[in-house]
Amino acid sequence: MADAFTMLKDIKAAGKKVVGFYCVYAPQELVLAAGALGFSLCATKEEGIPDGEKSLPRNFCPLIKSSYGLAVTDKCPYFLYADLIIGETTCDGKKKMFELMKGFKAVHVMKMPQSYLADSDKAYWLHEVQVLKELLEAELDTQITDEKLQAAIQVLNEERRLMQQLAGYLKNDPVPMTGQDFLKLLWGRNFVTDRAAFAEQIKAVISDIEESVANGEAARPQGAKRILVTGVPTGVGADKVIKIIEDCGAAVVYIENCSGMKQYVTLVDETKPPLTAIAEKYLAIPCSCMSPNPTRMEQLDQLVGEYRVDGVVDITWQGCHTYNVESRVVKEFLKQNGNTPFLQIETDYSQGDVEQITTRVQAFLEMMG
Ligand code: SF4
Ligand code: SF4
Repeated sequence: MADAFTMLKDIKAAGKKVVGFYCVYAPQELVLAAGALGFSLCATKEEGIPDGEKSLPRNFCPLIKSSYGLAVTDKCPYFLYADLIIGETTCDGKKKMFELMKGFKAVHVMKMPQSYLADSDKAYWLHEVQVLKELLEAELDTQITDEKLQAAIQVLNEERRLMQQLAGYLKNDPVPMTGQDFLKLLWGRNFVTDRAAFAEQIKAVISDIEESVANGEAARPQGAKRILVTGVPTGVGADKVIKIIEDCGAAVVYIENCSGMKQYVTLVDETKPPLTAIAEKYLAIPCSCMSPNPTRMEQLDQLVGEYRVDGVVDITWQGCHTYNVESRVVKEFLKQNGNTPFLQIETDYSQGDVEQITTRVQAFLEMMG
């Protein structure tokens, strides 16, 4: 982490503003249009949990405890150097965590509607996006014009198109890249300082993958069971289930959650007024905090077909009520729509249950034949 601390110190010394966020509902176009650097904040390290538990209940989800522990101890460089944190009222745990964070950091909390379906939800969220725009302008001493927003939309839409293209290679059998490598590429986007250079890096990866496919090289044997991973965010450091699935011989062909493709599947409409289009894109994210959440089921249905998925693994962090309850909804949905095999893994950041999860995943793969 020493490198990230130094990099951020230099960024701040050069007079650049930094904005941090934990959730993919934070509209990143606004941060870019404000001329600031936006970073995803640390939330996937087990080492933050004991410090998180000093202020938060032990039965909270590990993601929240890790986030808070790393923030309050200055172990997250992105949090430490951020001029502003964008929070959001997704789940109750995070909502209350942001209240505590306000005691030692500038935190703006976006108030989420409970659903993305009604016009009133959309109008409410557009207002929240407008409030954030005005706050960023005031806090970062800048003007966010429509022209700047349009330019930011184009940059981030291009990244989304590249990620969609990258994901598309996992439709192949055999797959040219592992799910673990795919996650690392997606993860890298959380810490980008030069967006044009990042887009070039992804294009180079795409060209390497095309070459591998042309040469018949594969990351997993042909015919390996094809698994779609869904559920809670599982970033690098908290990706043990993805590793276990691949260690058991299967191919993770799609990572549907927020640390995976969830944030990339929908573009911002470049033909609409920019703020409205940004609000629409972000509100459409099918997080389990939304009630009801039909878009997640529709997307899963489509993905199971497109990626010829043999089984779905739904990861739930202990203490995450919304994903835990929605797991039953996903299971029932898959049963009634093609009877796709389904496995829920409820776990935390520790390594203590690796053996037990491995046994369950092995049995799941064997059951598929
Ligand atoms: S799962 Fe929900 S709360 Fe978590 S990052 Fe995704 S949208 Fe945000
Ligand atoms: S995993 Fe669940 S409980 Fe944890 S922060 Fe996300 S929505 Fe909240």
